Amino acid sequence: MNRLLLLIVSLVATATAIAQDIATEIATTEAAPGVYMLDGANGFSSNMGLLVGDDRVVLIDDGMAPISADLIVTVAELADRPIDFIVNTHVHGDHVGSNATLAENGAVIFAHKNIRKRLVEDPGPAGGAGGLPVVTFADGVNFHVNGQDAHVRHIAKAHTDGDAVVHLHGSNVLVAGDLFFNYMFPFIDLDSGGSVRGFIAGQRRIIKMADEDTVIIPGHGELASRADLQAAVDMLVDAEAMVEALVLEGKTEEEVLTANPLADYHDTWNWGFITTEKMTSTLYRSLTAE
Ligand SMILES: [Zn+2]
Repeated sequence: MNRLLLLIVSLVATATAIAQDIATEIATTEAAPGVYMLDGANGFSSNMGLLVGDDRVVLIDDGMAPISADLIVTVAELADRPIDFIVNTHVHGDHVGSNATLAENGAVIFAHKNIRKRLVEDPGPAGGAGGLPVVTFADGVNFHVNGQDAHVRHIAKAHTDGDAVVHLHGSNVLVAGDLFFNYMFPFIDLDSGGSVRGFIAGQRRIIKMADEDTVIIPGHGELASRADLQAAVDMLVDAEAMVEALVLEGKTEEEVLTANPLADYHDTWNWGFITTEKMTSTLYRSLTAE
């Protein structure tokens, strides 16, 4: 019991320390005039896209709940009005965590219908029932704000089953959500309706939306170009083929992990959350589920 109490105390202390760290670290990078990438807590809280201008403020994703107060301050510094619209790119808590707080401040939340469906079952990731999306879409929705067309497009069964990417046509900026981890192995959430095949198809669709000058805001990692996204697709296609060859030989998941087919990608792509081992395991699980 004492040990349990100690564990709880230390967990609470760690969570408080993390929350305090997060509250002081929103980095702002200009992607184009009036378009910013906001990075909550050095990538820990995911990247967000912010579109400001004469008539509306649109925020694409809103980070983890502990950054919401700082997010409001950061947006206020860049825009001369509060956030009008929020677009959620998917259901994970590091992308929708400030929904409830920002909705309370008047923002209207747009999301794919599967995001709302999942959040109705468990509103926790969005900071409570107040964070539920108010407007939902199936294939997409268009915004006509600040002199440009912003197209939100659903990508089926990729990172999750409710993904969307946002193309800011006037600025030539794409906000990819977690369809793009820049030089990090991607998280493909098979348990939330994602799939490796859908992820690759989604990335290829984003590449088609882009040209060589397009600036891409990835879900995690540095501001990117189409060439960076192409590198991510090339890696994943090759990694999938290597794991598939072993699956076709009849190898078990353990045998595939032991063979370590992704070894050459380790140095560049391995990171804390999606290790080489976890990526291999995801590829195996997705391939054998199809
Ligand atoms: Zn995610």
